[in-house]
Amino acid sequence: MMTRSVAILGGGILGCCLALFLARRGLSPVIFEEMEDVLCGASRWNEGKIHLGYLYSADASLNTSRQVLVGGLAFTPLVESLVEAPLTGLMTTSDDMFLCHATSVVPPTLMAERFGKISALVNTHPDAARHEARFGALAARPLSTAELGSLTHSPSIVAGFAVPERSVQTRAVADLLRAAVMAEGRIRLRRGIRVRGVQVVSGITAGDRWRVITSEGLEGPFDCVVNALWQGRLPVDQSAGLQLPSDWSHRYRLAVFVRTRREIWLPSALIAVGPYGDVKNYNGRDFYLSWYPAGLQCETKAVDPHWTSPPGTDLYNEVATSTFDALSRYLPGVEALRENAESVTVGGGWVYASASGSLANPAATIHSRADFGISRRGSYLSVDTGKYSTAPWLAEMVAGQIA
Ligand SMILES: Cc1cc2nc3c(=O)[nH]c(=O)nc-3n(C[C@H](O)[C@H](O)[C@H](O)COP(=O)(O)OP(=O)(O)OC[C@H]3O[C@@H](n4cnc5c(N)ncnc54)[C@H](O)[C@@H]3O)c2cc1C
Repeated sequence: MMTRSVAILGGGILGCCLALFLARRGLSPVIFEEMEDVLCGASRWNEGKIHLGYLYSADASLNTSRQVLVGGLAFTPLVESLVEAPLTGLMTTSDDMFLCHATSVVPPTLMAERFGKISALVNTHPDAARHEARFGALAARPLSTAELGSLTHSPSIVAGFAVPERSVQTRAVADLLRAAVMAEGRIRLRRGIRVRGVQVVSGITAGDRWRVITSEGLEGPFDCVVNALWQGRLPVDQSAGLQLPSDWSHRYRLAVFVRTRREIWLPSALIAVGPYGDVKNYNGRDFYLSWYPAGLQCETKAVDPHWTSPPGTDLYNEVATSTFDALSRYLPGVEALRENAESVTVGGGWVYASASGSLANPAATIHSRADFGISRRGSYLSVDTGKYSTAPWLAEMVAGQIA
């Protein structure tokens, strides 16, 4: 029997892409979102790296790279088809410069070896040719001494690589996706409603139905429920009778979004691999800056995590200042952003991982992020998005399973 009613819990990139895919298959999903609008959380306030797997070179099995690159290669065509507009102009236009820190959990020789293997994995994927035609050769290469010297004089940076990854301006994509959702008459939005759990109407079978327990009371029943709540996912999974993962962590991270008065030349660069930071140059005037220790506000294994900015502090200014200070010690070009800033906005969100530990510890499970995707109990599906860049690919897969 064709599924008729679908409740999507959470209006981030996953929930919104899924709603659009379902609407285009003729279904009429309802999105439940606790904030005043969709796409206001982590999916708006992140760096937008379209992962091909290079950031996960500390995972010796390369399983994380294998998993994330599939979603990364699919990201741009899928989002463009959903928003019916090109993403050209919203994306970084050159390779990311990966700068290997002296205390990196992956030392430079091993990084070179793993990057070679990850490039081979990317290039053997069936979607690689289409991606390459648009963004250029899909191979990482070591930076020459002169190239490295033009970026940094820090003695802590011991090697560098040009890596064929791009990033997208997530605030602009959030606006495009939101507009597509609003324009799609089949999608119903229930904003400002907190989801507390679900309950099955009859036994767990292929034809079961679910009610959604919300701050407004019981909703439904629905033929299918998809939990796309990110940091809010686990308590609702518990109510559905799904087993929690054996390990997980929630981290609340803030980053700095800068618009400059004039165009500034500064390559997109990141210091790898560990608790460092990065700068993204989307178009010469819009930049993303992060310094992990400055931006990390909360790290917890709580099932239902909460964080609010501490009252009476100037937290956002402090995060901006310490991020500029730390990054400019490695990348002096960052000072020009501070001097020419037209606006500085601090924003962020939760990062969920079914892994934990310190990024500085090579043995921590946090370096392996391969364990994400879809779990289900009858017609209740729970989706761990994994990364922003894997969301559209997962959403299309979930839509296929439902329809
Ligand atoms: C600083 C930072 C940088 C990042 N950089 C990258 C990057 O470069 N590349 C990358 O791929 N990923 C990155 N990420 C991770 C990325 O942001 C997330 O993986 C992605 O946005 C998750 O999308 P989502 O739709 O699952 O979750 P969200 O966007 O968080 O959407 C979930 C929605 O559910 C709502 N919600 C939660 N609980 C409830 C409830 N109980 N009731 C009702 N509504 C609820 C929330 O309000 C939210 O709108 C970064 C994250 C951060 C914070």
